[in-house]
Amino acid sequence: MGGNGVGHHSAMPFEYFTTSLPRRTALLGALGALLSPTVPAWATAKGHHATKPLATTAWPHALAVPGGIARIALGAATTRPPAFTGEVPLLVLGDAKGWTALVGIPLSTAPGEARIRVQDAGGAQRDIAYTVAPKHYVEQRLTVAPRTVDLSAQDQARYEREHTHIANVMATFSEPLPPANALRMTAPVAGRRSSSFGLRRIFNGQPRNPHSGMDIAAGMGTPVHAPLPGTVIDTGDYFFNGNTVWLDHGGGLISMVCHLSSIAAKVGDVVPTGAVLGAVGATGRATGPHLHWGVVLNRTMVDPALFLAD
Ligand SMILES: [Zn+2]
Repeated sequence: MGGNGVGHHSAMPFEYFTTSLPRRTALLGALGALLSPTVPAWATAKGHHATKPLATTAWPHALAVPGGIARIALGAATTRPPAFTGEVPLLVLGDAKGWTALVGIPLSTAPGEARIRVQDAGGAQRDIAYTVAPKHYVEQRLTVAPRTVDLSAQDQARYEREHTHIANVMATFSEPLPPANALRMTAPVAGRRSSSFGLRRIFNGQPRNPHSGMDIAAGMGTPVHAPLPGTVIDTGDYFFNGNTVWLDHGGGLISMVCHLSSIAAKVGDVVPTGAVLGAVGATGRATGPHLHWGVVLNRTMVDPALFLAD
């Protein structure tokens, strides 16, 4: 694919389209209110090096931009306070001395003020505002054969069915929650990683969903591993994503691996980090063998790089 300009990764194979959720309206815009500083828990901990986050809370990295993750301090409470964006439950981690909400911010979010809602013991609710900073994502314009962009009626119907199914998979919120000190992920395959998360693709002048995952270059058949412990909640061969495995890590944190040449896991499997989920391929709408890796937090595709050490 003669794609133009994802930096030096321009030769990376990619998929034509990616999944996305219906735009969520939970994150509100401009009404003024007191901004609550989004201080990560480690920043207020006493007796630790100020320059280096505690390993227990360093992942995912906080980056309050569209497609990123905000870490929002909720304060002390004897029990875990439920927190939400709109009706969507958030992952809240910590202990009685201090809780933190991890908030996946949709790529479609407008920069500015956003809010979460926290339910305190006794049922009282309060809003916490935070600021979503702007982030520029590269736009890529491609000209391809029209039939690769315009879906047939049959393909369109298939895509819509799958879209609904995938939205349900992404809405999974299970317990137990993942341990706060074990959210650093291992890349599912070794290989050159694209920096194309958030890339806005325009095919033949038609804007498509932004790229909502990380592409990793790897040869056909390379084993694909679980990035964290989890439970396989879905497998299938989908129109855009090809052979896909969805892994639930708990608390609305979910990962997906796509375009697999084969699937080596089944729904219900409980797997450790490193378990083989399948093999790299080019199924679905992919221009060549590579792994597309997606990470979901509160039904939102976020940048997988925030979960990696390097
Ligand atoms: Zn991709």
